[in-house]
This record gives sequence, C-alpha cells and structure tokens, in this order.
Amino acid sequence: MAAGFSPPLLEEIRSRVDMVELVGQFVNLKRAGENWKGLCPFHIEKTPSFTVHPKKGIFHCFGCGAGGDAFSFLMRQDRLAFPEAVRLLAQRAGVELPSERRPEAADGKLEALRQLMARATEFYTEALWGAGGDKARRYLEGRGVDPEVARRFGLGWAPEGWDHLLTFMRGHSVAEEALAQAGLVLPRQTGSGFYDRFRGRLLFPIRDGQGRVVAFGGRALGPEEPKYLNSPETPLYVKGQTLYALDLAKGAMRERNRAVVVEGYLDCLMAHQHGFTETVAALGTAFTPAQLALLQRHADEIVAVFDADAAGQKAAARLEELTGEAADIRSLGWSVARTGGFVRAGHYPVKVAVLPEGHDPDSLLRALGAEAFRSRLDAARSILSFVMAQALAEEDLASSRGRATAHARVALILSKVPGAEEATALARQAARELGADATQLWIEAQQLGRARLAQGRGERAPGRAALPTVSAAGPPPSLAERDLLALLLGVAEARSALLPGIEEEDIAHPGLRRLLEALRGAPDSPAEALMAMLESDGERGLLASLLLEERQWPDLQQQISQLQRRYEIRRRKKRIRLVTQAIVEAQATGDPSLPQLETELGRLQREAQEVRELSLAPAAGQPAPGRPASAPGSMTP
Ligand SMILES: [Zn+2]
Repeated sequence: MAAGFSPPLLEEIRSRVDMVELVGQFVNLKRAGENWKGLCPFHIEKTPSFTVHPKKGIFHCFGCGAGGDAFSFLMRQDRLAFPEAVRLLAQRAGVELPSERRPEAADGKLEALRQLMARATEFYTEALWGAGGDKARRYLEGRGVDPEVARRFGLGWAPEGWDHLLTFMRGHSVAEEALAQAGLVLPRQTGSGFYDRFRGRLLFPIRDGQGRVVAFGGRALGPEEPKYLNSPETPLYVKGQTLYALDLAKGAMRERNRAVVVEGYLDCLMAHQHGFTETVAALGTAFTPAQLALLQRHADEIVAVFDADAAGQKAAARLEELTGEAADIRSLGWSVARTGGFVRAGHYPVKVAVLPEGHDPDSLLRALGAEAFRSRLDAARSILSFVMAQALAEEDLASSRGRATAHARVALILSKVPGAEEATALARQAARELGADATQLWIEAQQLGRARLAQGRGERAPGRAALPTVSAAGPPPSLAERDLLALLLGVAEARSALLPGIEEEDIAHPGLRRLLEALRGAPDSPAEALMAMLESDGERGLLASLLLEERQWPDLQQQISQLQRRYEIRRRKKRIRLVTQAIVEAQATGDPSLPQLETELGRLQREAQEVRELSLAPAAGQPAPGRPASAPGSMTP
C-alpha cells in the first residue's frame, strides 16, 4: 500500500491535510461535537452516518463501514490509485515529493488527457481575450455577461478556420491522435489528417468536481447549426455524470443547502452573475440519477427550473427519467441496509420552479432581475405534486371516464414516491380533487410499486454484487477482540506491555489480525498512521471505526495486567498442549526424550496453576478484576 512512499512523508502529508475541508468538497458536513457529520458519499442514505474526525484525520461511515484517512478518502471518491492520491494531497498540502514517480500507465493516460485539455483551455481563453476575440466579446456584451463572470467560468473562443488549435498544439508537440482522443479534432473525410472540431464558436469549458476541464460546449454566435456543439464522450467525460459549473457552485450549495438546476450554459452564467451561485446546468435535457446523487452530496433541496411553456412535459419527463426503469433505484431515496435489504428512506428531493410565460432564466434575470427569479425559486414545489397536479389538470374530471384515467395516472405517480409520508400527503391531495378514497389510491399505488420493484430486482439481478456495501472485513469481530485492539491502538503503555505476549493467531477476526500485524510493524507511530499499511478498504474502515470510538480506560493498569495474564495463560495452555502431544508421540515411537518431556509438562502445569491462582486472588487494596469500571476509587474521569 505504501508503494514506495516513506511513512514519515505520508505522515507529514496526512498531518497537513484538513480532513473537514477535503471531505467538505464532496460532502455537506455539519459539526457534531468534536466530529463532523454528513450524508455518506459511498452509499445512499437519508440520515447522516458519515463521520469525519478532524484531529485524527480520519473518516468513517457507520452505515456502510467505509473508512480511512485522507488518502483512502480520495482514492474512493475519485477512484484514484494510491500514488495518485498521494501526489494530489502532497500538492494540496504543499509537501514536495522526493522524486516524481511515474504514474501508472492508465493514470498517466488520463493525466496526459487532462493536461491536454488544460492547454486547449488556455488556447481558447487567450483567443477570447486576445485581438481575434472581439466578435465573441461583443456577443457576450450583447448578452449582458459580465467579463468577470466570463473569466470565472473560463469561457473561450474557438477562432474561425480549420486548424488553429491543431497548429497551436503541433507547436507544443502534441500528437494529433491524442487531440482526437480528447475530442478536440476530427479525422478528415478525404485524405489523411485532422481538423478542429470547434470553429467560430464561443466555448464553455465543462469541468469535473475538482475544477479540471473535461469537455467543451460550443455555442454558435450566428444562425449556424447546430446552435450547440459539445465534446463527444471521452475517457475524461461521461455524459450524464457531470454537471456544468458544479466546481463553482458546490461551496454555495453547501452554504445554502440548496442546488438550482437550469438547462443552458448562459442560464447558469446569468444565475451566478445575479448571486445565485448555487446554480448548475444539467448539460442536455436529461437529468440523470447520477447527477441527482452528485447534487445530494452538497444540498438537501434541489430545485429544477423550467420554462412555463413546456414545464409540465419537462417535469413529467424528468420524473420519468429519475424514476423510470432505467434509473437506479438506489439513487431515489432507497438505501441498501448492511444486510443487503432495501430500506425506505427520505423524501423525494427534487422541486420544480416554473418561470413566467416566455422566459428562461437568462431572459428573466435580465428583464426582471434577481428578485423575480428568487421568488420563483422560493415558490418551487415538489416535482411529484407538480406532475400530479398536471395530470389532474389534463383530464376532464367532470366525466367519469376522465376521473378514471386521472385516478390511474395518480396511482402510477404515487407508486414511485419513495417516502411514505410524502406519498400519503399526495394521495390525500389527489383524492380530494378526484372525489376518490385516499386509502384506495394508496393501496393501488403500493401494488404498482411492489410490482415494479420485483421486476427491477429480477432484471438487474446479475449487477447486484456491485452494491456499495463495504463489508470487506468479513463478519463483525467479537467484543473482546475489538476491546483489545482499541486498547492497543489508544494507549501506548498497553502496546508495550501487551504486544510481546500476544500472537497473531490469538486474534480470530482477520481484519483485526491485520491491524495487530500493522501495529507490530510500527509500534511507535500514531494509530492513524497505520492506515497506509493496510491493504483493503475493509481493514481501513475497521481501523477508522476503532479510532472514532471515544473510549475511556478506567483502571488501565488493572486491565493491562488482566489481559497480560489472560494471554500468558493462553501461551502456557498452548505449550502444555504441544508438550502433551509430543509425549503421546514419544510414547508411541519409543523416543528417548520422553522423561525430559514429562518433566517439562510437570513444570508447565505447576506454573500454570500459579498464574491462575495469582489472577484469581484480588490484590490488596484493589477491586476484584472483572468488574473494574464501577468500582469505588477507580480513575473514571
Ligand atoms: Zn456509507
């Protein structure tokens, strides 16, 4: 695991990284005493069980068991290899690595693509603000985009012509094939060679959560088609898993506990310009469960903004996208319990804000200002209740046929509501308008829901193994073993007294046994530093959970000597067993060492007896062992 980095170096990096700040980039953390808590980014949950302990520099999720230090967090969060996580955190902490290690082949390829995208971004940005960019700058001015905002978003300009980027990149010895892989150039239809993908377009760089450019969206300035031309999918850019401006918006999202989702790049820019810095764009019409999950890490409330003309269809389509069979049910407020069963949790987080007739966010903000936009956001209502109201409005409730259709549509919508509380409220609302029985609607909805769930399970059975449960460390360890390891980790004195007398095989639980081995390998280092020596996520999770327990050790001396005796008795029993076995064998083979063995056995048994008596007799002035904590005169703080 340490992969060639020295423990002191790793410790140095670890000690300089602020875990709350690091994790806070991805998780909405709230202080809870000494710890910080938030919704786990590694499994879907509604009640925060993800804990960060800043002093110890560790995290642990009591829901799924994930845990570890800053390195393990980044590895998990960004799917990085260990060396990559070390490099990133070293950079962040301002620690210089002794020699730049070569990245692994695959990581290196991604890194090369990232550098290439960064260089392309520079080229396009310079083109926008340079002499040739006046046309694009005039366009931005005409759209009311503040130059400061344009710079904050890193906007660029792809000059007209076939090979401006190509020529620039050739000057930097970048291979054309690499440019093609990054989606920046296309192969010529006739003959060999490539040409620029983006020509004469205003460019919106699309960045990942870390702020690294992974793709571009290009807008035509005139009537050219298509109006928007985007990067294709590349190893860096997967559609449906990225949100435009997430890197710029996540801080405000956490602060305001709200995320605003608009459709267009310019809508997003204008929202930021008017102070709605918690805004992202969904990049295309689809709004995927992966995007929803991204947002839920930063805010509890998610408001999707729709134009009035198509709000109904869009909301319905979006609800369908988010709840349809293609969607992963885990992201819809269902969470997976440790046992692998489904747990219903939470309410449906998406709300709908509808803009006045004829407006999109961009035009509304420019025409009516921030207050008009704010009041629409504040009036947002649950997407479910919105879609249900639409369904009711579309049917002729005066006719019995219309009422029957509306009834069926409402039951279908209700069947997709994960939260029972929200569903019953909606059922009551619909029942009032339909003149129907709320209970009946509710029962129908549940039947539909069960049918769909059963179907969904059946269809995706092969993929089930990939559920994010992190029980890699096997069945839970026994309390006694847990206590022992917690003591060894928490108290240096206990380590020096007990480690020599305990053998790895004394510990039945494989994860705890690994912790013991790691501890033996570095008995003087802080317990947090053991993270780097553990191989698996399961083991790191186990360590984190032990480190997070706020334990007191009353009667420490007594506990240590009790444990010492316990393991000594074990040692002796084992020795007695071995000698007895040797005697049996010697008797069978007529081995001449038999008398010596018998003498040794006698001595061992006498000694064992003494140790046992010693451990049973309470020492003068001390409470009897076995009941330490509540004894009078104990050192309980
Ligand atoms: Zn978790």
